[in-house]
Amino acid sequence: MKLADLYARPGLTLSVEFFPPKTDKGEENLFSEIEIIKRLNPAFCSVTYGAGGSTREKTVDLVDRIHRECGLEVMCHLTVVGQSKEEGRSVLRKLKEKGIENMIALGGDPPQGMADWKPHPDGFQHAVELVREAVAFSGFSVAVAGFPEVHPRAESRASDLKYLKEKVDAGAAAIITQLFFDNEDYYRYVEDVRKLGVRVPIVPGVLPILSASQIRRFTSLCCAKIPTKLERELIKVGDDDEAAVQLGIDYATRQCEGLIKFGVPGLHFYSLNKSYSLQAICKNLDL
Ligand code: FAD
Repeated sequence: MKLADLYARPGLTLSVEFFPPKTDKGEENLFSEIEIIKRLNPAFCSVTYGAGGSTREKTVDLVDRIHRECGLEVMCHLTVVGQSKEEGRSVLRKLKEKGIENMIALGGDPPQGMADWKPHPDGFQHAVELVREAVAFSGFSVAVAGFPEVHPRAESRASDLKYLKEKVDAGAAAIITQLFFDNEDYYRYVEDVRKLGVRVPIVPGVLPILSASQIRRFTSLCCAKIPTKLERELIKVGDDDEAAVQLGIDYATRQCEGLIKFGVPGLHFYSLNKSYSLQAICKNLDL
């Protein structure tokens, strides 16, 4: 089922993001976690595309395997960075052959070791070109990324919003946001995006914290802020990962309660390939 139809159904549309594990053992662990996550009835899951296109084959293979073996709808991530237009098109062709209907078109993170984002000489420059390509290529249902705290490379908040609208005008069916920890940022973002006349679902991306050091690394990479109150809690848990997981469950539960009250169309969980926190959060929320 296509993204547009999934979000048109009544109720909250849950989705869960995975990344391709590096080893066979990691992949088998992921499939055990997916079996648990399936009990939460997600509408779809998604599989990331490694920085700089580094997991091209693995991403497509994993998307295909989850789709065939787990009976879940899957949205494949596809990025512009580090690959030619033809390489991007060949991924779209493979997805089509495998019966995958949904993808998220992204600029992509630069490969490890590359500080600045540089387009491939024969590649697309921005995610919007990939949206156009995927929509034209036998009608994929396409999502795009949104940044409640403004994309780090954007010239301004206004230009970032303008380019977001361009992606929707090019045919994107949904916007999935970068992680954030202050719901006010998301509420303000939705208000500003709606002012531009954009009507597609704006789905908040929620990351349940698993460790204090990891969340500091993630937030510095994607330039998301850690609110003072959360920072104090992170200092308290220190290196105690069990305490960090519990903090992550409590924080994400409160965040989701606020988001649901606001009327979000869905929740997109950055699962980091783990089911434990997701299960606890969904139980707390009665989902
Ligand atoms: P774009 O829309 O191309 O925007 C990138 C920057 O360029 C922005 O600052 C924007 O304002 C500006 N811009 C856009 N269009 C134009 C234009 N026409 N002219 C001038 N400037 C323009 N990264 C990965 O590598 N793999 C993944 O699987 C992945 N999954 C993600 C999933 C989600 C839900 C999110 C939110 C992010 C994900 N990322 C992933 C990270 C994302 O790819 C990076 O943050 C990337 O730098 C921005 O992607 P974008 O799709 O917004 O790019």
